[in-house]
Amino acid sequence: MTVSEAIKRWDCEREVTTVCSELIRFPSENPPCDVTGIAAYILERLHRAGIPARQLSAAPGMTSVVGELDFGPGPCLVVNGHMDVVPAGDRERWAFDPFGGEVREGYVLGRGASDMKGGLAALLVALSEAVRWDSLRGKVLFMAVPDEETGGWYGTRWLLEQGFTGDACLIAEPSGINPTIGQKGALWLRAMTRGVPAHGSLSPLVGENAILRMTKVIEAVYSIWGRSWTIPPEPRRLISETQAILREEGLEVQAEVLDHVTVNVGRISGGDKVNIVASRCEAEFDLRVPVGVPVGVVLDLFRQLVEERAGSGVEITPLREPIEANYTPPAHPFVQLVLRIIREVAGDTSRPVLQWASSDARFFRRHGIPTLQFGPADLQGIHGYDERVAVAQLVQAARAYALLIHDYLSPGDGGGSRAA
Ligand SMILES: [Zn+2]
Repeated sequence: MTVSEAIKRWDCEREVTTVCSELIRFPSENPPCDVTGIAAYILERLHRAGIPARQLSAAPGMTSVVGELDFGPGPCLVVNGHMDVVPAGDRERWAFDPFGGEVREGYVLGRGASDMKGGLAALLVALSEAVRWDSLRGKVLFMAVPDEETGGWYGTRWLLEQGFTGDACLIAEPSGINPTIGQKGALWLRAMTRGVPAHGSLSPLVGENAILRMTKVIEAVYSIWGRSWTIPPEPRRLISETQAILREEGLEVQAEVLDHVTVNVGRISGGDKVNIVASRCEAEFDLRVPVGVPVGVVLDLFRQLVEERAGSGVEITPLREPIEANYTPPAHPFVQLVLRIIREVAGDTSRPVLQWASSDARFFRRHGIPTLQFGPADLQGIHGYDERVAVAQLVQAARAYALLIHDYLSPGDGGGSRAA
């Protein structure tokens, strides 16, 4: 039996289920994002498997774990997963303990089961298997990172800045059967209006009301949702294909936002006192930008519409660095390699898709590294209550990761030598 055949039959159910449960029992909620406990667990597991690994911290609590399987000269495959999870929220709304890691009726239950302790567990189990193969050439660089749920600046981006890099990257983010090859961009902006204070008893005849002016700003910004955009042929095709897949799955809203700029005013504050004409108002906007549309174009339109409808002098500042939409082309050999492996392990319907939100993948792509996301997922519960993951998907993912490591690092075997 070849290694590939052995991997496809590999019985790792007990191990991957146990690791997933144990990871869930560390409540690594972000905020506040203290991953010290879960990072120590992962480090110890890697060491026990005989994999050289170490911890590094960009800031207190923001610990990353880096492990390395080194088989000598050859291509380097990065595998990445985040340890932080979004907060569990109101415990009363959960049908089980979000940090219990209970296994019931073929599912592992808890916050992070799908996003993404299931994926991390599958990676860890695949690595402990791969460390025993001696026919491979090249390197696997494993990264467990913090801070993904609040931007990734202290996790993935920081590790890349420290020089940890590779030729291709797989992130074990929840995807289900269709790997994610691109994400939308994001523009987070603050707008501030100023007015002229006056006595409320004489309004609207006196003064200038900053809150009233902000309502015009908000209307102007929301008109961006209705726009259609010129998108180059390749991303245009990817968007249409993803929309068709999402609609098949009943995800109509997610399909619709893919070729639109979404708009949300998420916070507003202003005014001084009920009987004073407001002198100042501030609002924060979250806009998500389709693949194929530069964020600069959207920012220019934002400014232009605000000026047209609310007049000049509205101060617009970024809340954080804008994120360009980004993707790895579907024809890239690494995408084709991962697709082939998923089809072998999980059936033949797998197709590459785009994601309507953003992720750490952008940091790798910015470094010129082709990057995909593929991981076990029960998409309905992610960031909500009663999150879970199917044990069958954990097994499938562990096998796919093991096969990817094997094929990517097998010289002349359609792996990294060609895919890099
Ligand atoms: Zn995630």
